[in-house]
Formats: sequence, C-alpha cells, structure tokens
Amino acid sequence: MNDKPVAVITGASRGIGRSIAIALAAEGYDIAAIARSVDSAGMENLGPEVEKKGGQFFPIGLDISCTACHKEVVMNILERYGRIDVLINNAGVSPLQRDDILIMTEESYDRVMNINLKGPVFFAQKIAKEMIWLKPQLNNYNPVIVFITSVSSMRSSTNRAEYCISKAGLSMASTVFADRLSKDGILVFEVRPGIIQTDMTAKIKDKYDKLISEGLVPQKRWGFPDDIGKAVASISRGDWNFSTGMVFEISGGLNISKL
Ligand code: NAP
Repeated sequence: MNDKPVAVITGASRGIGRSIAIALAAEGYDIAAIARSVDSAGMENLGPEVEKKGGQFFPIGLDISCTACHKEVVMNILERYGRIDVLINNAGVSPLQRDDILIMTEESYDRVMNINLKGPVFFAQKIAKEMIWLKPQLNNYNPVIVFITSVSSMRSSTNRAEYCISKAGLSMASTVFADRLSKDGILVFEVRPGIIQTDMTAKIKDKYDKLISEGLVPQKRWGFPDDIGKAVASISRGDWNFSTGMVFEISGGLNISKL
C-alpha cells in the first residue's frame, strides 16, 4: 500500500491536465497520468516534471471512450499503489469540425459524447466503487472526484452544439455523483474553465485574442492551464471540505451577467 496519496488524471499529456498533474505532484500526490498513448512527447516530458515535484509518475494509455478498457486500467493502478485518493476527469475534445447545429453529424455527436461524457461518467463510476471499498480500510483517506467541464456547459455555441451538450451533461453528472457519494464520504466538485490557452484553443487563438481585447472576458486575459491547476490543488488540499457539489468557474469573470 502506497504511503502517499494517489491522483489519477485523465488527459494529462497536455494543457490543463498537465498543469493539474504537476500541481498535484507538488501537493504530495503520486500521479497516474492517462492519455491515449504513453509514447507522446507530452507524456515523456511530464514524467520528469512530476518527479521534480516529488511525485512518482505512472503513465497509462487509455482512450477514455473505451468503457470496456476501464476495469483493467483501474486494476493496474490499484495493483501498483493500492489506493486512489483523487480522480480528475479532465480528458476532453472539441468537434473535429465546427458545424452549425443544423448540419452537425451523428458521427461527430457520438465521438464528442463518448469522450466527453460517457467515458468520464463510467470511469468515475468504476473508481467511486473502489473508493467506497477503500474508505473503511485506510486511515486519513479523503477521496475526491473532480469533473473538468466548461463554461460551455451553460452557454450556447451554435457551431459546436455537441461540445456544449456533452459539458452540460457532465455538469449534471458531477451534481448527481456529489449527491450519491456524499454519504460515503467522497466529495465531488465541478471545475468549469473559461477560455484557456491550450492546444484545444490554438486553432481559434486569433478570434479569441480579438474578442478578449474587446472585453469579452472581464479580466481581459486568456486563462492559462496553471489557473486551473491551482484551483484543483486547492480542492485536493481539502480547502473545500464542506462544499461537495460546488462548481468552481475559473473564467476571468465570464460568469458575470451584465446589462
Ligand atoms: P488539450 O490541450 O487538447 O488536451 C486534451 C487532453 O486530453 C490531452 O492530454 C489528450 O491527450 C487527452 N485526450 C484527448 N482525447 C482523449 C481520449 N479519447 N482519451 C483519453 N485522453 C484523451 O485540451 P485542454 O484545453 O487542456 O482541455 C482539457 C479539458 O478542459 C477538456 O475536457 C476540455 O473540454 C476542458 N476545457 C478546456 C477549455 C479551453 O479553453 N482550453 C475550456 C473549458 C474546458 P492525447 O491526445 O495525448 O491522448
């Protein structure tokens, strides 16, 4: 049994997930980092960063939409560490092509829903059951599940409906898991990023540079992966232990409704 707590982070090879992995290593966690492949430059670079912060690094290849693959991955993590303290459901994708909702294809809808919603829901279900089983066996065991959704869970973009719908669903999944798991001592939180500079937004950087300079984001800047890493570190540290089900919108003020 690992002495240190263990964090499982999906979509850890780049962007927001990478920052979360480094932030949690600095908080004293060993890191099980998931991405589709363990051989990417992103995964190879992440290992030394996690180790520099004092965490062990366990890279795992998993397409999160392969629900039939989840069991083996969870068993591998438990065989290696004997525990999972924190699950960060972060892996997610945009549609390959932005199309109006009236021409959105079923293929694109299914792809986005399987990766952004069905995969994370069943991965969380599997790990939550292990957390319930582990709870009476471990001292000082305070399991936490975090869902990384998006401001798009509450705001419409007519040219990427499948993304908005998947994130709205994931937001409710976070609420239902928080409700169900509260009696088992497992806390569940939703972190809702705004416009964050990562590979996901690289293709539309010029558009958002302009919109941000014109005041779309009240704090007038891009968000950075570290903004999300810091929020997740605070949750994992136990700063919000009487707040299960809470939504953290980290968006530079996009949440402010203005007249
Ligand atoms: P990113 O830079 O494109 O990184 C996505 C991560 O997910 C990568 O590590 C990728 O790894 C992994 N991934 C993609 N498909 C996967 C799959 N099928 N199975 C397992 N892993 C998969 O994206 P990001 O901007 O950091 O976004 C992270 C999360 O934040 C997503 O859920 C996204 O929707 C959300 N978010 C982002 C923004 C933003 O503005 N960037 C705003 C709101 C919410 P591999 O390619 O190596 O597999």
